[in-house]
Amino acid sequence: MVDNKVLVSEVMVPGGHAKAFEVKKGQLLQIIDAEGGQVADFIAFNQKDHSEKLSPTHTRISLKSLTLKVGDTLRSSMRRPMFEIVEDRSPSHDILIAACDEQRYLVDYGVAEHRSCVANFEEVLAPYGIGRETFPDPFNIFQSTHIEQDGTLVQEPCKTAAGDFIVLRALEDVIGAVSACPMDLNPIGGSQVTDVMVRVYKGEGAAA
Ligand SMILES: [Zn+2]
Repeated sequence: MVDNKVLVSEVMVPGGHAKAFEVKKGQLLQIIDAEGGQVADFIAFNQKDHSEKLSPTHTRISLKSLTLKVGDTLRSSMRRPMFEIVEDRSPSHDILIAACDEQRYLVDYGVAEHRSCVANFEEVLAPYGIGRETFPDPFNIFQSTHIEQDGTLVQEPCKTAAGDFIVLRALEDVIGAVSACPMDLNPIGGSQVTDVMVRVYKGEGAAA
C-alpha cells in the first residue's frame, strides 16, 4: 500500500516516549513496530477543532465490534469518520484499555514517578495547546487482549514481530500522537520497551 508512495514525514518514537505529528486528509499514516512486541498508544484530534477526537468507544459501536480489521472506519467523538484502516500487517490491536498514567503505576504497582503514555502525550501535545483533560482513550496499536466466555478481560504479551505495521488513511486533517508505551511491570509489551516508527505518506492525487 505504501510501497510506491511519497514519504511526507518520518518520526522515530523512542521506547517509553511519545511524538506528535500532523496528518492531512487523504494522507497515509503508517505506524511500525520497529523491533516487535511493543504497544503503541495512539490518540488524534481534529486539527481545526481539538474538541473532536479519535474515539474508541464511538468506533466500537459504529463497527459493532471489539476488534479492528482492514476496511474499518475509525470514528471521532462526533461520530464522524476520522481514519480508515487500509492495510494491517500486525496480529492484533486493542480498543478497550485505558492509556497508562501515573496512577496506573502508583495504584496498581506501587511505583511512583514512572513514565506513562498520558504524561508522554501531555509533553508532546502541549505545543499544540492540547491538555490532558481533553485526552480520549487511546487506540492501543499492536496490543493483544481478549475476552473469555465469562467476560474476563485478558491482557496478553504483544504478538508483533519486528517490522509489523498498520496503515491508516486520514479522513480529516488531524494532529496525532503515538506513545511507545513504557509499561514494563506486566507482560503486555513483551520483555522490553522499544521504538516505534511513524511515517506519513502522500495519498492519491496531488492535493494530498
Ligand atoms: Zn502506556
